[in-house]
Amino acid sequence: MILPGATIGILGGGQLGRMIAGAAARLGYRSHIFTPETDSPASQVTPFTTIAEFNDEAALARFAAAVDIVTFEFENVPAETAEFLAAQGKPVAPDPAILRITQDRLREKDFLRSVEVGTANYREVTSLAGLQRAVRDLAQLSGPNAGQRGVLKTVRLGYDGKGQVMLGPKTALDKAWRRIGGEVAILESFVDFACEISVIVARNGQGAIANYPAVENQHVDHILDTTIAPARIAPALAMRAEAIARHVAERLDLVGLLAVEMFVTQDGELLVNELAPRPHNSGHWTLDACHTSQFEQVVRAICRLPLGSAEYHSDAVMKNLIGRDVEKWREYLNEPTAKLHLYGKTEVRPGRKMGHVTRLLPRR
Ligand code: AMP
Repeated sequence: MILPGATIGILGGGQLGRMIAGAAARLGYRSHIFTPETDSPASQVTPFTTIAEFNDEAALARFAAAVDIVTFEFENVPAETAEFLAAQGKPVAPDPAILRITQDRLREKDFLRSVEVGTANYREVTSLAGLQRAVRDLAQLSGPNAGQRGVLKTVRLGYDGKGQVMLGPKTALDKAWRRIGGEVAILESFVDFACEISVIVARNGQGAIANYPAVENQHVDHILDTTIAPARIAPALAMRAEAIARHVAERLDLVGLLAVEMFVTQDGELLVNELAPRPHNSGHWTLDACHTSQFEQVVRAICRLPLGSAEYHSDAVMKNLIGRDVEKWREYLNEPTAKLHLYGKTEVRPGRKMGHVTRLLPRR
C-alpha cells in the first residue's frame, strides 16, 4: 500500500494528470508531474514538476528518486520510459506491459481476440500491396455488399482520430497509404454501429474490482463530443458490456483504471474498439455524478487502497469544450446547475480539449 502523504509521480501533464493530482491532493497525497511541456495543465496544480523529454534518463532517475509510485495519464508515454522507472525500483501502475499492449493497435486487437473478446475484423498492413490484399480479405469476410469500406489506422501514436483514414468504396488506396505516411498500419472493417459506448473499470491488485456504468459516447470529427451517462441501451446489453470490461481488466491483471471503448452493432453485438489504461474523457462525468470520481478511483487503485463506490447519484450529460467552444464559459457559469471544468490551457487550437461541462439530471 502507498499511504497518504506519499508522492505520486504522473507521466504526462495534460488535463487527466491535472484531475488525478486534484483527487490525490484531496486524499492527502502529493503529485509530481513529468512532462516535456512548460506550463502544462497538470503542473499548474502541484508545485512538483520535472520538465524533460521522456527519454532523458538522468531526469527520469531524479524523478524516480523523488516519487513513491508512478502512473501515467496518457498512453503514448513510451513504454520504455515506464520500464526504465520500474527498473529504478519504483512501482509503476498500471504495469508497463499493459502500456505495451494498449499503445499498439495491432497488439491490442491480438490480445483482445486471445481472451475471446470481439473486435472488428482487421489486418496488419505494411505496404501498399499489403493494403490492397487486406482490403480484398476484409471485403470477403464482411460479405459481398460491404464494398471496400474500412478504416486504416497507424498502429502507434494515434488518438482522437489522428493517424486515421476512412476508406470509402472510391478511395484511392495509394493516396490513403501515403496519408498514413508508410507507417505500420492496421486496416479494420468499417463498423456500421448503432452507438458507441465505454465502460471504465478499476482494480486495486488486492482483489477489489469496480466498474462505472456503461456510457454512450458521441464523436464529432473522431473526437469525443458528448457523453451520456448512463448509456441509453437495454440493461442486459449494458451488463454484457460491463462484464467484458471486467474480464479484460482481469486478464490484463490490471492495477489501476481501464477504459474499454466499444461499438454496439446494429444487431446488438459488442465489439471492442480501444483500451486506455488510465482515466478517460468518457469518465469525466463521474466527477460530478458519482460517489467516487474516476480520478479518485485511480489514486485508490494504484495505491492499493480500498476502492470507492462507482455508483452514480445522478444521470449526466458531459459536453467537451473543444477549441473555441471554451469561449462560452460565461454562459455555462450562468447556468446554475451546469458544472464547468476548465483545464488552464492558454492557447486555443481547433480540436484541442479546453474543458468540459457536465449537466446533472435526476436518475432515470
Ligand atoms: P479510435 O481512434 O480508434 O478511437 O477511433 C476514433 C473514432 O473513429 C471512433 O470512436 C469511431 O467513431 C470511429 N471509428 C474508428 N474505428 C472505426 C471502425 N472500424 N468502424 C467505424 N468507425 C470507426
